[in-house]
Amino acid sequence: MIPGEYRLKFPTIRRFTFFFFIFLILIYTGLIVYFEYDQNRKLVDYFDYRDELLDNSIQDILGTYEEFSNFIFDSQINQDSVLKLIAQANEGSETAKGTIRQQLYSDLLQIYERIQTYNFRQLHFHLANGESFLRFHSPDKYGDNLMDVRESIRIANEEKRYVTGFEEGRILNGYRFVYPLAYSGSHIGSVEVSVSMASVISELYKSSIKRDVGFLIDNDLVENTVFSDEQNRYMPSFAAENYLHDKEVFQLIEESTNSVKFYKDANFIEKLKATINEDLRLKESFRNSLFYNGKAYLVQYLAVKDISGKPAGYLFSISENSYLLEIQRQKMIMLFFSIFTILILITMFWITLKIQSIVRKMIMVDQLTQVYNRSSFFEFSLKEAARQRRNHSSLSFALLDIDHFKIINDTFGHSAGDSTLKQLAEIVSKSIREYDIFARYGGEEFVLLLPDTRLEDGSAILERIRERVAAYDFPTVKHITISAGVIEKRPEESVDVAISRADSAMYEAKARGRNQVVQES
Ligand code: GH3
Ligand code: MG
Ligand code: MG
Repeated sequence: MIPGEYRLKFPTIRRFTFFFFIFLILIYTGLIVYFEYDQNRKLVDYFDYRDELLDNSIQDILGTYEEFSNFIFDSQINQDSVLKLIAQANEGSETAKGTIRQQLYSDLLQIYERIQTYNFRQLHFHLANGESFLRFHSPDKYGDNLMDVRESIRIANEEKRYVTGFEEGRILNGYRFVYPLAYSGSHIGSVEVSVSMASVISELYKSSIKRDVGFLIDNDLVENTVFSDEQNRYMPSFAAENYLHDKEVFQLIEESTNSVKFYKDANFIEKLKATINEDLRLKESFRNSLFYNGKAYLVQYLAVKDISGKPAGYLFSISENSYLLEIQRQKMIMLFFSIFTILILITMFWITLKIQSIVRKMIMVDQLTQVYNRSSFFEFSLKEAARQRRNHSSLSFALLDIDHFKIINDTFGHSAGDSTLKQLAEIVSKSIREYDIFARYGGEEFVLLLPDTRLEDGSAILERIRERVAAYDFPTVKHITISAGVIEKRPEESVDVAISRADSAMYEAKARGRNQVVQES
């Protein structure tokens, strides 16, 4: 029976424990946040590194093609015989143009076939006004003006300068190397040599990395640029909304021994869709990790812009990656470890509080009767006395003592005496208010602190207790009585003096014949 408030002692230890654990948890959270930050930074560095590798490979491949294209242009195309024909075509009638076209075709067909074996796909002449004059890859399609649809042709013919870059065309897309042509000092048109994306990607497949590399082209760009009867060269992407595959490029994934052929796994496609489609809308390069069937994949989408800087599509690479798996594994371990440690900390905190409350109880409570002991009673008393002085409230003390307890011990034995003490403590505890303080003062003497209680009321309370004790049927000893002294503490007197006055009152009760309450004002 412990009246509620034994939080009075050690509040500082309690607060210290609380702040200590808060401190531990903060330090720990800080460590986790730092770890997370560090992991993310490593990941970004790694992504950057891999993007740079891919980008460098592409630049190297394009650089090689450009050098080769320059060589073809200088040695085979930028020749008097060729230039003269183009110059004439600019001025000739449609019939004359037809003859010249045939002449040019037969003159350069061998060259075209040669460069095709080096992965070039297009050799295309344009007149000075931007009109398509001869497509070696489609010699029957000519006469359409490209000025508005092909920025490279506009630049070569209006600004009269060499231009290179990716561009979708009327039929095919590719990396263009477009040269302005001049004859006898006047501009006569342009010629382009192009490689398809397939050429670039087939080079990438030559590296030993196992991956799917491909090219996605913007659906709208194809619809707006490509001749409608040529649009069957494209097919919808498996994963990317609003993007198409150039079938010829896609074929490479199918054929390459280094490709993984993810598109054949419908579940993988679903995962990929969730990973990429948000980013694809932004039309900027992005990369991400993708986890599937216990493996990690590096997903890289490099934005391909056309010559005018407009987004045209993506070159993508999807490769299995053990480093990403390792980072993921470390994160999982850290997460598990974090939860585990936090649980340990919470448990430790709980155990510490429990131990504290046990220790506190041991220090403050009498072991036999489980009511406050003498020293904690004094602490409460000093506090109450201070409150009494401040509030000018009344405060009463009572001392109670079992009558002839020695005889009880002698008659029934010491342990029967002990149980009697316990039962008495219980009876009194149940008879008082929550904020009254009841303690064992020593031996078979108890003390009561009655806040906000005047002498008469205190006396009434003690009288009620006395009656209850006298009427109670104790298991072994049957009936006992108590004598009690009650006093109201004077504001100026000390607790010690007040208790000794209560003691005198109690002795007065003994003297008057026991089993009674004596009050002293
Ligand atoms: P009085 O009516 O004058 O108070 O008589 P009394 O016999 O109760 O008074 P006294 O102070 O002479 O004796 C108190 C006895 O209480 C002495 C001791 O044996 C007994 N006592 C003190 N503490 C304990 C205890 O923890 N357990 C038991 N069983 N007896 C105790
Ligand atoms: Mg006594
Ligand atoms: Mg006694």
